[in-house]
Amino acid sequence: MLRNTVSSIAKRAYSSQPVISVSKPVDGFVGAVGNTPLIRLNRLSKETGSNIYAKAEFMNPGGSVKDRAALFVVKDAEEKGLIKPGGTVVEGTAGNTGIGLAHVCRAKGYKCVIYMPNTQSQEKIDLLRMLGAEVYPVPAVAFDNPENYNHQAARHAQRLENAVWTNQFDNTANRRAHIETTGPEIWKQLDGHVDGFTCSTGTGGTLGGIARYLKEKSNHKTKIFLADPPGSVLYSYIKSGGTLIERGGSSITEGIGQGRVTENLKPDIELIDDALQIPDAESLKMIYRLLDEEGIYVGASSALNVVAAVEMAKKLGPNKNIVTILCDGAYRYQSRLFSKKWIESKGLTDAIPEHLKKYATL
Ligand code: PMP
Repeated sequence: MLRNTVSSIAKRAYSSQPVISVSKPVDGFVGAVGNTPLIRLNRLSKETGSNIYAKAEFMNPGGSVKDRAALFVVKDAEEKGLIKPGGTVVEGTAGNTGIGLAHVCRAKGYKCVIYMPNTQSQEKIDLLRMLGAEVYPVPAVAFDNPENYNHQAARHAQRLENAVWTNQFDNTANRRAHIETTGPEIWKQLDGHVDGFTCSTGTGGTLGGIARYLKEKSNHKTKIFLADPPGSVLYSYIKSGGTLIERGGSSITEGIGQGRVTENLKPDIELIDDALQIPDAESLKMIYRLLDEEGIYVGASSALNVVAAVEMAKKLGPNKNIVTILCDGAYRYQSRLFSKKWIESKGLTDAIPEHLKKYATL
């Protein structure tokens, strides 16, 4: 009797989820990278009249979209014979590529050295060290300054035997990760019905690689929008049809915004149809909304991407499938994004609606 009841409940539960997808066992950390779920954001979809889909890159085994690029740049170095067993991987990073690399290095038996701007969250530095990386937080200076974190990383690799600077910004193995994995996954998950894709860029690998794949598969029908934070030059670059205008300003978003067109974005920049600039207040509010309304706990670049997806849905009209990226979880920034004091120091207290202020508990 009890068994019957249980099995009928089980049947009912399963009937509301007609397809159970299980994947085969994978080979180590490296095998677990990619194949992330595509989440329909239900409230925002209802609000816009389109389907807003978000690729859950925070579910990669190292916790961010950058696990894919980390894996591809290391494989590229191995294939080119630039690194041998026991060698050292050196990289300049806002943190997430470093975290991906630190995981890949542990799994493959390499040492890992990371240079990052000292403006980044303590959580990322702590995690890198816990993963065994040697970390150098350095002053945040522009790319054309020889003391920029990337150039320091390059020089560090030159000083070592059997070491490679993976150069995520200009090494196009990064964008290849998204042409060969993220793009095809999105296409397959929506059976080829992708009307729009938008995301922000750091190296440009995610946007460039996915744009390339989706444009080719859709015969250039899928629209591609850049989502840019304040202080980045790419928004005005796209809007002006290719002029690099130096602009000041900063943003609470970490890991995105760019002062130049990187080699990872260059081959695909002509595929970008339009650009959106998202103010920090909108991104911060969306972090709290995603938590409250969708139960999803993500960082500021993910939230900025979702704001852009909503704007894209409004621009393209109803009944579209719009896709964006949830780059990483909020765990990496919680001492900032959920701290009343930090939010106040950024002048963003009013960005969070009254009913969502209860989540700022730190
Ligand atoms: N979001 C976060 C949190 C990141 O760390 C990064 C990479 N720095 C990005 C988005 C952008 O990814 P990409 O480098 O592929 O442009």
